[in-house]
Amino acid sequence: MATLVHGGRVLRSDTFTTELLDIVLEGEEIADVVPSGSIRGEGLHKIDAFDRLVIPGLVNGHHHAQAQLIKGRFDAINLELLLNGQRWGNGHRTLEDKYLSALIGAAELVRKGCTASFDMFAEIPLPTPEGVEAVARAYSDVGMRATIAPMMADRSFYEAIPGLADSLPEPLRRQALAVKSAPGEASLAACRQILGGWRFDRARIRPALGPTIPHHCSDAFLTGCRDLAREFDVGFQMHVSESRLQAVVAARIYGKSLVAHLDSLGMLGPRFCVAHGVWLDEDDRRRLGDRGASVSHNPGSNLKLGSGVADIRRMLDRGVNVAIGTDGTSASDNLNVFEAMRLASYLSRVQDHPVERWITAREALRAATEGGARALGLERIGRIEKGYLADLVFLDLAALHYVPVNDIVAQLVFGEDGTGVDRVMVGGRLILDKGRLLNVDLPRMRAQAEEAVARLATANSENLALAQALAPHVGRFCSGLALSPLSMNRFCGHQGGSHA
Ligand SMILES: [Zn+2]
Repeated sequence: MATLVHGGRVLRSDTFTTELLDIVLEGEEIADVVPSGSIRGEGLHKIDAFDRLVIPGLVNGHHHAQAQLIKGRFDAINLELLLNGQRWGNGHRTLEDKYLSALIGAAELVRKGCTASFDMFAEIPLPTPEGVEAVARAYSDVGMRATIAPMMADRSFYEAIPGLADSLPEPLRRQALAVKSAPGEASLAACRQILGGWRFDRARIRPALGPTIPHHCSDAFLTGCRDLAREFDVGFQMHVSESRLQAVVAARIYGKSLVAHLDSLGMLGPRFCVAHGVWLDEDDRRRLGDRGASVSHNPGSNLKLGSGVADIRRMLDRGVNVAIGTDGTSASDNLNVFEAMRLASYLSRVQDHPVERWITAREALRAATEGGARALGLERIGRIEKGYLADLVFLDLAALHYVPVNDIVAQLVFGEDGTGVDRVMVGGRLILDKGRLLNVDLPRMRAQAEEAVARLATANSENLALAQALAPHVGRFCSGLALSPLSMNRFCGHQGGSHA
């Protein structure tokens, strides 16, 4: 039976204004959008949207399913210290833990108005078909859409940073070098199995590949991923130019930027999504724009880890598709795409842009909806229009940030924190109603999480001890290396001139 969502104030994606409109749903799709009250709706299933603002579900451009079980464990750390803690944080996970961590993340995202997420899911030491299937199942059970990219490397963090291992005192050097990534061939073979055996509907849950950071991967492994992606028609996400250290290391290893290196390997294209892109120069942005690539801007993560402020205005100038992401809970904690959207707009104002080039509320909203949809390879979401999939978020206009209403879109982007989310629908099916997740047993999930955290703390105690012993050395070395001179005029302006 068709459904009529009636009486709501609906965001029009063409004008980014709102109108009182009714939405006709047939199956998963939006069959029509009509003036309010123009259809009587006899024989239709009706959903009352009176006093609700109806927007397309937000799309999260970058996230990590594995991170939820270590929520809150990281305070004052940068990216390199986070990577140093990876084995401790993610080690010894059972299949149930992998499912559970993904489930907690998906539940929080939906509760805060997000309906699709680009997930770089890491398993140690390499992706497994069962692990990726568990994460896909978690998203599917909650009712969300996701693009899942198994996160991989064939070099350990300690091997990837030139000089780092040699800077460590024994026995830490030996212990760090004993931490191995899986060989590239093994990860590629696993991915071939994952892509070949994919049983989820790709319009809902689709696979991608996630070689994590360019210099953590050999060129042979990267080109292997490139070829596999072409063979199975899937996209990519990689962490690129996230920290200043990465820009320094790229110049040392490749004699060019990470983006230029990836371009020389033929990796860039419309299915390629950069996560972060804080340390891009004009040439990088031109390459990404010319190749039709996307960047997921993750402002909360970039702030928490001290990575910097990505310049999305200059990305948009070059035709780069910009999405907005939360990153995982280790890096930005609260999985709130509303907050990420607001930060994306606000942070554009502390760079070297004149007022007329600041990212407006509407531009941020476009990035968090349509921009994200394109980055995920899910082109039929992100707009409320005939022919699009019915992924809708209903916001309660009685929430205090809408009282009184002046410019509802500005109030949505700058004021909404998720507390106004009343209902969430994906593909025409409600998955959150009156703030309650319909497909998640929250008390059970919570009890399982508490049990998992206690068990994993014991299982990973040695990994933790090693990470803690390494941390001061890693922190000192990486901070020193990150401050090496870069040809800074290349980056001029994009960090507010703070390092010029
Ligand atoms: Zn990430």
